[in-house]
Amino acid sequence: MKKLMSMILVALLVLAMGSAAMAEEAWAGAVGKTYVVGTDTTFAPFEYENDEGVFTGIDIKIFDAVAAEMGFTIDWQILGFSASVTALEAGQVEAVMAGMSITEERMAKYDFADSYYGSATGVAVAKDSTAASLDDLKGKTVVAKTGTTGSQYAEEIAPAYELEVLYVESSSDMYTYIASGMADACFEDYPVVQYEIARGNVACKVINVSEASSPYGVATMKGTQPELVAAFNEGLKRLQENGTYDAILAEFFGE
Ligand code: GLN
Repeated sequence: MKKLMSMILVALLVLAMGSAAMAEEAWAGAVGKTYVVGTDTTFAPFEYENDEGVFTGIDIKIFDAVAAEMGFTIDWQILGFSASVTALEAGQVEAVMAGMSITEERMAKYDFADSYYGSATGVAVAKDSTAASLDDLKGKTVVAKTGTTGSQYAEEIAPAYELEVLYVESSSDMYTYIASGMADACFEDYPVVQYEIARGNVACKVINVSEASSPYGVATMKGTQPELVAAFNEGLKRLQENGTYDAILAEFFGE
């Protein structure tokens, strides 16, 4: 009986060690590698040039910290949102981290790592605009960033509000359109436009926030980067456990 018990114990131990080794294997292949990662140009506080001229942000700090924790490095490519996605599909970058929303449609094409944040879409108008709701935008011209969930939201409500939707490649171009009167409203992830308003960078106000909110994730082409996805997930978990994740968010959003 005793012998049987110890045999069962040994068997359990071997099984546990085996599954630990397998879990390790999932991300072990990422160790020592350099991954080329596409990101947006002006998407504060996730990626942007700060007042000191340093390109930084929540995305940059989280992925760099994950990489340091897990033993790989990142070669950041500051391309813009839709250019990053195009580069991913062309195999020029191995991943995109650009406040990219995990949507059902995108999940059909990309493998996303675990979500590290999330947001809804804000609709912003010039600070001195009299528009106070979507109804006030009826028949107006609005601007959105190519290929984003913000542009999707604009397209969704365009028929009902008779909106003409213009497209640009960067958030800063959207704000320029508003400032110059080329568009009456822009569609941007709510925390991003709020951050720019608070920084005094854009003279806008948010008049509407979409009901739907989506989680942000790192995207890779389906089936191509399982080690990177596993390494990100493991690294993120550790950063969340050891307080680094909270410290990075606090650095940009305040305590
Ligand atoms: N979260 C939005 C999206 O995924 C916007 C991302 C961005 O503009 N960088 O489409």
